[in-house]
Amino acid sequence: MEYTYHQIPGWFNYQDSYAQLASNLPDGATVVEIGSFMGRSTSFLATAFWNANKQNVKAILRYLLRRQSWSPFSPEPIEFAELNFDFHPSSVRKWLNETGFDVKRQLTVSHFRIDIIKKYVPLSLLVAMDSWVQWTGDWWQLTPSVFVQCKTKGSTPAAQSDELFRCPTCGHSPLGSEAAQLICPGCHHHWAIRDGIYDFREPIG
Ligand SMILES: [Zn+2]
Repeated sequence: MEYTYHQIPGWFNYQDSYAQLASNLPDGATVVEIGSFMGRSTSFLATAFWNANKQNVKAILRYLLRRQSWSPFSPEPIEFAELNFDFHPSSVRKWLNETGFDVKRQLTVSHFRIDIIKKYVPLSLLVAMDSWVQWTGDWWQLTPSVFVQCKTKGSTPAAQSDELFRCPTCGHSPLGSEAAQLICPGCHHHWAIRDGIYDFREPIG
């Protein structure tokens, strides 16, 4: 997801300490900001949790100018905050293939998130330009976000709704479900469901 906090008026310019805060918070933590004005810093925090393509133009430029130590071209993921990873597109395609998916087409989005472009080109034109060039995603992927259309290979029968997940800790399947969590009958770990999203990064109990 694109950072948009700098479009919000305010005095927030301590991104590094907030990125560190975001990476150290436990699941379900509450952050209270006193005097946050129009939410510039809150917007930064919310965006800091999203994943992105490591091989994006900004990362490539930073790497070439030696302002970034990790290579955006190598296949391994980069952990930019604890348990938040940027991946190389070719690694993701390889994993999709290995797990039985055929990659059909790829769309790249947020081509123009570089500040100097955003400053001088009107937003409506940027949005239109982005929608023209996102079809180049099949040939190269240099933007922070990439959407991939996949189809399953072969004729494996569709999973039943209670067979969709197995426990990341002990591998048990199926998992029992309660109001807002899945519970593993094998190791008794609890996994959160937040706003319909299953979170298997860390157990909540
Ligand atoms: Zn388990």
